[in-house]
Amino acid sequence: MKVNQKSIRDGIEDFLCPFTDMYITQGSNGGYSHQGIMANDVRGKEAGVRYPYYAPCTCKCVQIVPSYGQAMWQSTAPVRFANGRIDYATFVTAHDDSFNVKVGQIVPQGVQLGNMGTKGQATGVHCHIQVSQSKDTSWYKNQYGNNQMNHEYDLDACYFLDDTNILSGTGDWKYLKDVPVGTIENKTEFYQTNYNMHVRTGPGITSAPKKVKDLTIDGKRNATSQDLNQDAIYKKGTVFTAKEIIQNQDGSLWGHSPSGYICIQDNDMIYCTKK
Ligand SMILES: [Zn+2]
Repeated sequence: MKVNQKSIRDGIEDFLCPFTDMYITQGSNGGYSHQGIMANDVRGKEAGVRYPYYAPCTCKCVQIVPSYGQAMWQSTAPVRFANGRIDYATFVTAHDDSFNVKVGQIVPQGVQLGNMGTKGQATGVHCHIQVSQSKDTSWYKNQYGNNQMNHEYDLDACYFLDDTNILSGTGDWKYLKDVPVGTIENKTEFYQTNYNMHVRTGPGITSAPKKVKDLTIDGKRNATSQDLNQDAIYKKGTVFTAKEIIQNQDGSLWGHSPSGYICIQDNDMIYCTKK
């Protein structure tokens, strides 16, 4: 986005990319300091320059950690994300050397939110940003020691890239024209489990597992994630809503249900049937 850019459709702000030039130096689940989190480190056109970034939506500061140039922001109303979801946005920005934010401060969409920087632990000038598509302000260390939020989504599922130059980084980028008002957010599908099924659940589960592992419950085969200790069970015949269907690298399909991720099918079995 550019400074002072706004986008409101049907009375709801679209969640815009806060950067005018976006060069991603570390993406989600990145090996340096993003293991297990949907966070991105973004610099601008030239390395080392403290470019400004702007409020992706009208938001209020809810937490600060000045020694890291870090703030947690929350939208003042539900917003429309690039994946079509409409919910509150809660997001963290960090490393602003010029940090002067106060808790309770409201910044309108398009107004400058901060500057890229190196405050706290940073190897080069950038903005660390991670987005939760919820009102949940939880912020906790995951198994890798990285700070995680609940309901984190990757940036291509969050930002509209209109008027942002993508200099480095790949994603399924969405623009306002790709998400017509009133269509995608209502896409919810119903599935019924054909077996007793493991559901990947628990705090901090923000994406479907990369690979399926076969197990049996009550003598019947079913697919589960590799980290079984975080799985719960849906009994055979359970009907659930899937707000999105994800295909993973081993070809398996997973439904994102309200309680977690559930395997719908893999290469040889159908575990859940569409209703
Ligand atoms: Zn980072």
